[in-house]
Amino acid sequence: MTYIKGMADLHTHSRFSVDSDADVFEMIEKAVSLGLKAYAITDHCEVNRWYTEEHYGGTKIYPYFDFKSDYERSVGYISGIKERYEGAIELLCGIELGQAQEEPEIAQIVVDDKRIDFILGSVHQLPQTEDFAFLNYGDMSQAEAEELLERYFTQIDKLCAWGKFDSLAHLTYPLRYYIKNGIAVDLAKFDCIIESALKRLAQNGKALEINGSGIRQGAGMTFPVAKYAKMFRGLGGEMITLGSDAHYVKDVGSGILEAAKEAKSAGFDRVVYFKERKPIFIDI
Ligand SMILES: [Zn+2]
Ligand SMILES: [Zn+2]
Repeated sequence: MTYIKGMADLHTHSRFSVDSDADVFEMIEKAVSLGLKAYAITDHCEVNRWYTEEHYGGTKIYPYFDFKSDYERSVGYISGIKERYEGAIELLCGIELGQAQEEPEIAQIVVDDKRIDFILGSVHQLPQTEDFAFLNYGDMSQAEAEELLERYFTQIDKLCAWGKFDSLAHLTYPLRYYIKNGIAVDLAKFDCIIESALKRLAQNGKALEINGSGIRQGAGMTFPVAKYAKMFRGLGGEMITLGSDAHYVKDVGSGILEAAKEAKSAGFDRVVYFKERKPIFIDI
C-alpha cells in the first residue's frame, strides 16, 4: 500500500464535464504513467438537469443544464476509445450520476446503458437548493448548516434506497465546502441517518467510495473518513472504491493512497473496480 502502482482511480472528470477542461487522452496517459491497474472517467450527469434550461421554465437555481447531451458525448466517446488501451490499463467508461433519487425514470436510462462499466451515485444538490459548491456560506448560521446536512443525509438515504448505482460517491460531500468556509459540525449527530443509508448500501450489495479530493483541497480528510467505512463494514458492506475526483490531469491518482489507508484502517484488505458493472477485487 506504499505504491499507487496497481491501484484503481474510479472517479475522474474530463472536458465532457461542465466543470473540467481536461483532455481525455492526457488524463488516461497520466493514469497509465502512474501504473494504475484500472482507471475510470466518470463525467457528470445531473439527472435533475437532464433537459435544456427552457424545459425547466423559470426555476433557475442551478447554472448548468442539458446533461443528456454531456452524458451522450462522454459515454459515446469513452466507450469508443477503450480498446486502444487494452494491455496498458483497464480503461473504464463510468458516469457520476447526480440526484438519481429525484428523477428515477431518467436515471434508469443511464442504468440500462450497456456501454457503461461503472456508475457513481452522488448527491450534490438538495431539492429546490443550489449545489453545495455554489451556496453562500458567509451568511450561513450554524443551525442552517446543520439543517442542510440533515437534508443532505436524508437524500443520501433515499439515493441508497433507490440503489441502482455501483458505488456511493463522496459521502459527507458538504464538508468539502463547510471546512473551507470555517464551518465545523459534529457529524455524530447524523450517525443514525448515515447508518440507515449505509445499511441499505450494504444490503443492496453496493460499494462505498472513499474520495481522496479532501486531502489536496485542504480539508485534510477523505470523504468519508474511516469511521464511516468501518460502520459500513459492520453493517455487512464488502466493497470499497477509491477515487481522486480529479478535474485536472495533475490530480489523477491524487489522494488514492490516503483513501486506501482509510479503507485499510476500517478493516478492508481489498478494494474493487467495476467492469461491465461487475466488481473485480484488488488487494491493498
Ligand atoms: Zn461529485
Ligand atoms: Zn466528481
